[in-house]
Amino acid sequence: MSAPMTSSAAKPIVEAVDVQKSFGPLEVLKGINLSVGKGEVVCLLGPSGSGKSTFLRCINHLERMTRGRILVDGQLIGYHERGDALHEMSGKELAVQRRDIGMVFQRFNLFAHQDVLTNISQPPILNRGKSREEAVARARELLKMVDLEGRGSAYPYQLSGGQQQRVAIARALAMNPKLMLFDEPTSALDPELVGEVLSVMRKLAADGMTMIVVTHELSFARDVADRIVFMDQGVVVEEGPARDVLDNPRQERTQAFLRRMH
Ligand code: ADP
Ligand code: MG
Repeated sequence: MSAPMTSSAAKPIVEAVDVQKSFGPLEVLKGINLSVGKGEVVCLLGPSGSGKSTFLRCINHLERMTRGRILVDGQLIGYHERGDALHEMSGKELAVQRRDIGMVFQRFNLFAHQDVLTNISQPPILNRGKSREEAVARARELLKMVDLEGRGSAYPYQLSGGQQQRVAIARALAMNPKLMLFDEPTSALDPELVGEVLSVMRKLAADGMTMIVVTHELSFARDVADRIVFMDQGVVVEEGPARDVLDNPRQERTQAFLRRMH
């Protein structure tokens, strides 16, 4: 899944530099550096509490960093730079940046009172100025892509967790994001429903979407990730191709984590 060597592919979609985040006295991220190329799939692994969710949330400024900076497609997220100082953006400006960043959480976050088609088609109508007709046509395409063709009039409560999560993915994709962030998208699912969600994510990766995926699904990470980043206690301990990080981990902390996973 390596991107073609054109000049635009050489520019990273995500560039996180020295990202530090504290909650009061608790330093949760201790200077994370990560660059993700166009079309690249990065799986973020690590024990619970290592800061994976916090880092993802910093990428779309759901969390305010204490230090450092993150650029998405060359744009500084959350701030304007004036001289040496950073000034926080307005909510409106932030909303414009967030349109390009799709996020899928552990819990499905669908609007319970809207049917599936409305859940998917509404955001681009409200935030991208798309016509209802165009948005609905695209929503139907996306439903097909996530193997839910014909389920547009269902309400979230009528769907399984796996189906709801696939709708959540379709809904994020409806905004045509440059980047998709997944935070343990299958962790809340019954085991028999995990595969159908991972299979949609595999398809998305094969289609060239740039993705950062926090997951405990090692076989998914092995097959799909261009790169695995292992985090522990707020630092990147080790990163590289799956065959290095999963099969020949160099760091003791990575080895211990993988032993616990098996
Ligand atoms: P992970 O996703 O790797 O499990 P998190 O990013 O959720 O880790 O959390 C990292 C650490 O930050 C944990 O110790 C957690 O308790 C703490 N933390 C996360 N969010 C907050 C918050 N809003 N306030 C205080 N502490 C938080
Ligand atoms: Mg988490």
